[in-house]
Amino acid sequence: MRGPFAARKDEKGDLFSRIGAFLADQGLGPEPAHYNFAYDVITNPGGAIAQAVARLTDGGVRLSRSDIEKLGGTVVVGARVMEAPPAPPQRGLPDYAAQIEDEAVELVAATQAQVDDFATMMRAMQDETRGFGRDLEQSAAAIGRNVPQPQAAAGLDEIARITGSMLSRIREAEVRLAHATDEADSLRAKLAEANDTARRDALTGLPNRRAFDEAFAIRRDRDGPFCLAVCDIDRFKRINDAHGHPVGDRVLSAVGRTLADECDDHLVVRHGGEEFAVLLKGIDLADAAAHLDGVRGMIAAKRFRVRESDQPLGQVTLSIGVTAVQTGEMIADAFDRADRLLYTAKSGGRDRVCAA
Ligand code: GH3
Ligand code: MG
Ligand code: MG
Repeated sequence: MRGPFAARKDEKGDLFSRIGAFLADQGLGPEPAHYNFAYDVITNPGGAIAQAVARLTDGGVRLSRSDIEKLGGTVVVGARVMEAPPAPPQRGLPDYAAQIEDEAVELVAATQAQVDDFATMMRAMQDETRGFGRDLEQSAAAIGRNVPQPQAAAGLDEIARITGSMLSRIREAEVRLAHATDEADSLRAKLAEANDTARRDALTGLPNRRAFDEAFAIRRDRDGPFCLAVCDIDRFKRINDAHGHPVGDRVLSAVGRTLADECDDHLVVRHGGEEFAVLLKGIDLADAAAHLDGVRGMIAAKRFRVRESDQPLGQVTLSIGVTAVQTGEMIADAFDRADRLLYTAKSGGRDRVCAA
């Protein structure tokens, strides 16, 4: 069975670069342990590990440290991490803001790796302490049972006293370790949430541009043909001007939800402002354009009303540019092409799809 990471015959010589791409996609450094894991995934695409990796990374998600470890791999902490996927084009956000955001996300990832290590260490210490406590308890019981001659009794009393005091210290240490482990687990959950928040748009709840860029980098060399679409709400400023920003926000959420529902095999993100981007996998350009045109028609047919006053908002339409992504193409190039097609759709009268 061919898996998504299968090496085609003509790609055999390229094994090295495919392993490199896998490590870069997963943010793993070029350590031997990481290399071994990537080698297993790529050279045995029908195997359980590759299939599990494909499932876990579907939708462009990166493997977590615990995913890799559950699959029998090892993550080397503190190792040099390979270069990240190409930086996204800086549309909208000023460079310094995007840079601070990137640094924050990197910090979360690094902290997460440290907390993972800390939790593992805590668990190991807990196990050891518990084992030691059990041994000590048995020794203390044995001393109590075997008190022989009266002359030895005084010495044994002293040993029993020391053992008893060690035992109570061990019990205290066990409680403290259990507490530290709980704290590490709760920090781990918060970090996972922060990771998710960093990749999600707060207004619509859709993934954001960061998630999109990461998914693009992963899809690019792996999943065969895919298409990229940019969808922009037409004359959106008018909605804000006529009904206020909160109503505009609701329209944005509703459009985002419809797009996501109607493209649920694909990745729909809020790319910024009143603009959404879609990565359509396993579909050629003509089918992608036809599908998006259907969604466009569905949104245009909706009768939006202001919830409070029931006042109609008028037609809300989308203009869409969609293009087939070339193998190995950089995101900026594919995005520019989709953006130019979007511009053609706008200048052609809006409420339409342009594909090329
Ligand atoms: P066009 O058909 O050419 O795309 O016209 P447009 O009015 O949609 O485009 P323009 O770029 O002139 O205006 C986009 C507007 O989208 C302006 C901005 O205030 C609004 N906008 C961007 N983000 C948000 C948001 O989060 N909420 C609301 N309510 N409005 C937003
Ligand atoms: Mg726009
Ligand atoms: Mg617009």
